[in-house]
Amino acid sequence: MNTPLNTAGVVSNSKTDPNKILPMRYMWARNHYKDGVANNWTPEEVSMQKDVEQWKDPKFLSEDERRLIMWNMGFFATAESLTANNLVLAVYRHVTNPECRQYLLRQAYEEAVHTDTFIYCCDSLGINPDELYNMYLTIPSISEKDEFVINLTKSIFDPFFEVTDLVTLRKFLHDLIGYYVIMEGIFFYAGFAMMLALKRQNKMIGIGEQFEYIMRDESIHLAFGCDLINTIKAENPAIWTKEFQDEITELIKKAVILEGAYAVDACPRGLLGINTQQFVHYVQYIADRRLERIDLPKVYNKENPFPWMSQATDLSKEKNFFESRVTEYRTAGSLEW
Ligand code: FE
Ligand code: MN
Repeated sequence: MNTPLNTAGVVSNSKTDPNKILPMRYMWARNHYKDGVANNWTPEEVSMQKDVEQWKDPKFLSEDERRLIMWNMGFFATAESLTANNLVLAVYRHVTNPECRQYLLRQAYEEAVHTDTFIYCCDSLGINPDELYNMYLTIPSISEKDEFVINLTKSIFDPFFEVTDLVTLRKFLHDLIGYYVIMEGIFFYAGFAMMLALKRQNKMIGIGEQFEYIMRDESIHLAFGCDLINTIKAENPAIWTKEFQDEITELIKKAVILEGAYAVDACPRGLLGINTQQFVHYVQYIADRRLERIDLPKVYNKENPFPWMSQATDLSKEKNFFESRVTEYRTAGSLEW
């Protein structure tokens, strides 16, 4: 029962020299780092001119559309810093492998860019920051998601938490699934779908484009997180018991309920051509994809109600969709000659 911890792996590796990145062992981490750098962007590059006109015009957007925009900005504005804090204060300490740490530093920077996006949106649209940054406390469907993630990831946030055996490693894996699969992989996606649906109707296209960039970054964060999770499982097969697998599936099912409730609350009457239930189905469809990515059986078997979202989120090489913009950032070092 007391199988010892694999101390030669990606987590809490006592033999790793964190300052010696070469030779590399986990090329997936290196590749995600390169993809992140190649996708560089900043919010100021996106013009908010049209958004400002539309936002200030009392007749252009419906009350429901304004609600949806506020709900999503309110959720993301705090979720981005929550993620950044988790990464830097909790995940980084235990992931001792140098190429994974290099990726975590890149991801932390991207979270700072995402935080910057909401500063920029707040400034350009003239949104009251107190209102926006308090929504995670005042709006129940937002606070329930945040609380769920915070409770889910309590153990590794404890400064005295150490990964020393299979029990603590399982806790660490559980919390990683909370950060990456649930927060970044499920709780962001109803919002992405809503903001992109709005953009498809030529409404708030500046914010919509920023959400597209954020979503592209998040799809790499999620891919890194799942590779990390699957590597820990492969290095320590004894932690991936049937009981633990069932526990994770149950957590994901709870997360889907919360995300569905959030979607209904943010967009109670649907959007032109989209009913609210389709957002819920989209979350279920996304959750199945996440389950499969960490080798768990699907639960929902839903069709993707928004095939247009898969262009933006689900491509394994997200670059295709954004080719025109990404190329501008591509430096000589990352070009293939
Ligand atoms: Fe982010
Ligand atoms: Mn992220």
